[in-house]
Amino acid sequence: IKISRKMLRKISTLALVTLALLSVDAQKNKNTQYNDGVERPKLVVGIVVDQMRWDFLYKYQAKYGNGGFKRLLNEGYSFNNVMIDYIPTVTALGHTSIYTGSVPSIHGIAGNDWTDKETGKNVYCTTDETVNAVGTEAKKIGQHSPRNLWSTTITDQLGIATNFRSKVVGVSLKDRASILPAGHNPTAAFWFDETTGNFITSDYYLKELPQWLNEFNKEENGKKLVSNGWKTLLPISEYFESTEDNVAWENLLGSAKTPTFPYENLAKDYDAKKGVIRTTPFGNSLTLKMAEATINGYGMGEDQITDFLAINIASTDYVGHAFGPNSIEIEDTYLRLDKDLEAFFQQLDKKVGKGNYLVFLSADHGAAHSEGYMQANKMATGFFGEGLEKTLNDELEKKYAGSKLILGIDNYQVYLNQNVIKEKGLETDEVKKTILGLLNKDKRVLYAVDLEEVAEASIPEPIKTRIINGYNWQRSGDIQIITHDSMLPTYAKKGTTHSVWNSYDAHIPLIFMGWKVKNGQSAKPYHMTDIAPTLAQMLKVENPSGNIGNPITEVLEK
Ligand code: ZN
Ligand code: ZN
Ligand code: ZN
Repeated sequence: IKISRKMLRKISTLALVTLALLSVDAQKNKNTQYNDGVERPKLVVGIVVDQMRWDFLYKYQAKYGNGGFKRLLNEGYSFNNVMIDYIPTVTALGHTSIYTGSVPSIHGIAGNDWTDKETGKNVYCTTDETVNAVGTEAKKIGQHSPRNLWSTTITDQLGIATNFRSKVVGVSLKDRASILPAGHNPTAAFWFDETTGNFITSDYYLKELPQWLNEFNKEENGKKLVSNGWKTLLPISEYFESTEDNVAWENLLGSAKTPTFPYENLAKDYDAKKGVIRTTPFGNSLTLKMAEATINGYGMGEDQITDFLAINIASTDYVGHAFGPNSIEIEDTYLRLDKDLEAFFQQLDKKVGKGNYLVFLSADHGAAHSEGYMQANKMATGFFGEGLEKTLNDELEKKYAGSKLILGIDNYQVYLNQNVIKEKGLETDEVKKTILGLLNKDKRVLYAVDLEEVAEASIPEPIKTRIINGYNWQRSGDIQIITHDSMLPTYAKKGTTHSVWNSYDAHIPLIFMGWKVKNGQSAKPYHMTDIAPTLAQMLKVENPSGNIGNPITEVLEK
């Protein structure tokens, strides 16, 4: 029989389709039959509450219900003395270090942003111009991936252990807080697009949004959540844990004329600019709704292959930055989060089953009290950094007749302009010494240190180790500045910020609850980097590649 080319093409297409169908089938069979005999929870849920100070577990306890933070404490195991073991204590580093068990020196995420030492250009931690936005016309909002992350994550390791049968998803309003925890090869990572109010991703993960997410986005949950404005949950007179509502050190929200409740313009403000939801508790409600939709959409926790959902609760950070940790706004945000967590845990009980899932709750960093609050209460405080880059550059110009010897100051680190230093034939060490001399004249500076010489410097522990752990020679600056306690950078004239070594920024909550976790608490000192190896022990998977932490054995003992 003569077979024409056309026929041949048809036959081979048919064969390919049949093969593809067969292999999908084989894959399915493998999935349902897959069982390595290791006992694991059906679902792990990581909840990292952005900017959650450890004391928030206790400060509002009288007002928390029984199903949220108090359920975590009453059913779970709380570690009350967990510290971040590097600086700067900022978001991208927190999420990355929790999920890698590693530190910026090793995992590569040295800042939310850092300065490219060659070009002097700002680099954002997850920006990736080689990928495309999926689910939005706003190209730049979607151009993100974990490309800059060098270490594997605990979520990567779970994937490796189950031959990538586990469903792993990151969810956050913030791109970086979704992408970095989800690791290199997850099912997906989703973040908020403030031009549409939708959750989106990039084609690093998916070619198009899953149908369930299109449906979720169509519901306009953000719009619904802000439709009644923001009133306090309880009568405002009952917020006695917080400073009065109208103080000079709070920022304004949206079109509000005063930093006071009720925020009645919120629905209008949202129509004009959807990003406003970030700075309200409703950003957290939206995130947890999205988390629920993700669990349902992907059928997470339904079979015996462990899935992992990494959630970041981000609005606590935005509200904290705007109003400070002692504001009624932040108190109300935590009271509402407590209710949202209660509902979320109830859903997990119903869907996955109590005892079948493992939850851990922690934070990527804490926050300082507002400068105004510290002043009002007679405690040392102040501002640092106003015009510092220009002042230093002017002084250096006088001495070396070189223009812009400093590329920038990021994360309290001074970046030298190596190109100019080379051009002018200057010695790097000599320029560094001059800068250190200038910085040390400033009475607000506790230590200024050459980042290549930290080990030799007269700086006490644990500051010294935290500087070393945070120093990534390819991405960090050249000189580290440590200011006096409770000094805030000038951009935080109102509200607050975080990034330093002090307890208010570095002390984080850590609670495990659920699958094989007993009830209890411990005041023993642990580190943020101990979280991932603890999970690795519980899940019986290998530690992440850059891990330097140790498993917390108290939670493992049974
Ligand atoms: Zn953060
Ligand atoms: Zn207020
Ligand atoms: Zn922050």
